[in-house]
Amino acid sequence: MRRGRFPFGRRPRSATVSPVGVRKSVAALTAVGLLASACTSPVGLPIPVPDSAKYGADGIGDPYFPRYGNGGYDVSHYDLKMRYAPDTDQLAGQVVITATATTPLRRFNLDFTGLPISRAVVNGSPAQARQEGAELVVTPANELTGAFTVEIDYAGVPKPINSILGDGGWLHTDDGAIALGQPESASSWFPVNDHPLDKATYDLAITVPEGKAALSNGVPEGSTTADGWTTWSWAERTPMAPYLTTVVIGDYRITSGSHKNLPILTAVAASMPEGGPADAAMARTGEVADFLETQFGPYPFQSYGGIAVADTRIGYALETQSRPVYGPSFFRGADSTWVVAHELAHQWFGDSVSIGGWQHIWLNEGFATYAEWLWEEHTGNRPVQSQFDEVYRTMDWSIPTGDPGPANIFSGAVYRRGSLAVHALRLEVGDDAFFTILKTWTAERRNNTAVTADFIALAERVSGRSLRPFFDAWLFRTTQPPVPNP
Ligand SMILES: [Zn+2]
Repeated sequence: MRRGRFPFGRRPRSATVSPVGVRKSVAALTAVGLLASACTSPVGLPIPVPDSAKYGADGIGDPYFPRYGNGGYDVSHYDLKMRYAPDTDQLAGQVVITATATTPLRRFNLDFTGLPISRAVVNGSPAQARQEGAELVVTPANELTGAFTVEIDYAGVPKPINSILGDGGWLHTDDGAIALGQPESASSWFPVNDHPLDKATYDLAITVPEGKAALSNGVPEGSTTADGWTTWSWAERTPMAPYLTTVVIGDYRITSGSHKNLPILTAVAASMPEGGPADAAMARTGEVADFLETQFGPYPFQSYGGIAVADTRIGYALETQSRPVYGPSFFRGADSTWVVAHELAHQWFGDSVSIGGWQHIWLNEGFATYAEWLWEEHTGNRPVQSQFDEVYRTMDWSIPTGDPGPANIFSGAVYRRGSLAVHALRLEVGDDAFFTILKTWTAERRNNTAVTADFIALAERVSGRSLRPFFDAWLFRTTQPPVPNP
């Protein structure tokens, strides 16, 4: 994600975090473990495991956002079909989720905010599904072990989610809708295990009135029209974190073709001036991706793209997988490619290599901000060292990059201080080791998740140096660290 050019004076509104929720999740996990290891009584009679021990947790265990995601299963695929009528704002959806129970389950949760459910089926049999706040609690007819499928039909008027980032979730616009947001948004338009720890592949088919575009992630699979409605199909066959899903419906100028033998599809809101800054920036998507490939390693996905939206509530750009979405504020200046560099850098840092918890978000934003610096040097605007020197001089060191707290995951401590840490590592280990670290990271962790300790371990392995004190100073202390002497 990237806010407008100077976003860091604004303090993000605080996140709602319940420490009680953390304790609850941990307690649930502990109970399962205890019961599993104590299943006979002192006189040798089997003690039945109570159903409550087989209730999937209502959070995946993220200390920053305890209710995000859910426990007890792992999703491999979402097959999502939706029909949206912009004039009434009515969304009707059907999702088929393919998952594997990681523990025997009598009940499990999905994240879903408020659309009425008309049908829930698990493994072909009707199941109970009831809404509890932002959770959908599903009770299948039979206990689940191993692979299972969930089908849920739902319909209603979807709602926005006001997250730390601002307006997100499902936003009804003048010409259609935009579904977008971080750290959560997907749960406003489909039932989902909404945490980057549970990445999955997706098929999306979105039906809209003929004449409207319905854009999403991944490979474009064409559209078909019948009875005044057009269905647009998209396939993301590389695992994707739920917050990286998007749907953009409305009037768009679409440019499609191929780039390096992969499909490329960009779109600009029809209300934005034709041939203006948004069109110019989107047209350079392939060029920016190719530059980043020289820095970070092979492009990780099967499709390229970008979507420039006109709705001013989108005051940010977001790295939605293979097709980032850019808010209108980025296209006021002559050259907006720096934000394209930021969002495309996330395709490696954040999308392909996803964070194992929101505390580690500097692994996304520090590198995406550094990509802006690399791009601006590449285009002759400004050397990286000059960016580093200025930010280093003016940095507020009071928030630790490696553990900024849930209210600060989009703060300058994560973006700019994170980028300082990245460049300081380069000064510390030298260019050869530095770029080997980046390319090894994106190769070894591709389609996976990782945390800060994994990055530190890799940097030490590649450089052959002990870097704990270095990372401690740049990521976790609250005082200005000394600049390494290359
Ligand atoms: Zn970002």
